Amino acid sequence: MKEKQVARENVVIIAVRCGGILDRKQVEDMLKGRALTDAIVEGDTLILKGDGFEERVPCSSVLREECLYCAAPEPVEADHVVGPEVKPRPAEDEYADIKEFEKKSPEERWQWFSQEIEKCIRCYACRNACPMCYCSECFVESNDPEWVGKGDDLPDKQFFHIIRAFHTAGRCVDCGACERACPMGIKLRMLTRKIQKDVKELFGGEAGKDPDSPPALATFEPKKDTDDFTG
Ligand code: SF4
Ligand code: SF4
Ligand code: SF4
Repeated sequence: MKEKQVARENVVIIAVRCGGILDRKQVEDMLKGRALTDAIVEGDTLILKGDGFEERVPCSSVLREECLYCAAPEPVEADHVVGPEVKPRPAEDEYADIKEFEKKSPEERWQWFSQEIEKCIRCYACRNACPMCYCSECFVESNDPEWVGKGDDLPDKQFFHIIRAFHTAGRCVDCGACERACPMGIKLRMLTRKIQKDVKELFGGEAGKDPDSPPALATFEPKKDTDDFTG
């Protein structure tokens, strides 16, 4: 709606309260190779059953990381809300890891980024899963002009991820769909959340919370946009 793709009066929003998504990887690690025959959620307990074992763990201990920080388990805009009420998350510093990352030198950050992105196989599952990546032609598929090479070279992969992260600036709601979709386990949210934090600090905007706030990348204010890139 904010990006003028649908008009509010043309949609009926049925929102489902969300208690969080269980992290399949964490559950698999917990099972240590044992085969699962059944998984049941009862209240806040996850019951895992297999041949000769049954384990019970609190759901909250195996939630996806983005769910731990979710600022809106209760829908912010809806005509109808369904599902049981969700307990508010404990107040935590959602950017603690980003602040640690910011303490690194530019060279160390670049090294971390390069190592992480080296794993990318350019399947584009992250982009395809992203609710904000709905362009009819993505820049990576454009041939005229060709913005980025189509191969497997590290610079092309880096370029793809830097540009995509910037395309989500001020728009990414940290749903985590990109990271969940990645078959290579790349920590894409380190990029998108770093930009999310910068946008919040520089412009005060938070995607998904205020439909009337101006979009960060489509707004220019001479007093706020100081052109200071030294930080
Ligand atoms: S976390 Fe952000 S970039 Fe990733 S899929 Fe969700 S909206 Fe897109
Ligand atoms: S990466 Fe950029 S160009 Fe490609 S679909 Fe997403 S927003 Fe559009
Ligand atoms: S989903 Fe993962 S491997 Fe595929 S393009 Fe995105 S980052 Fe690369």
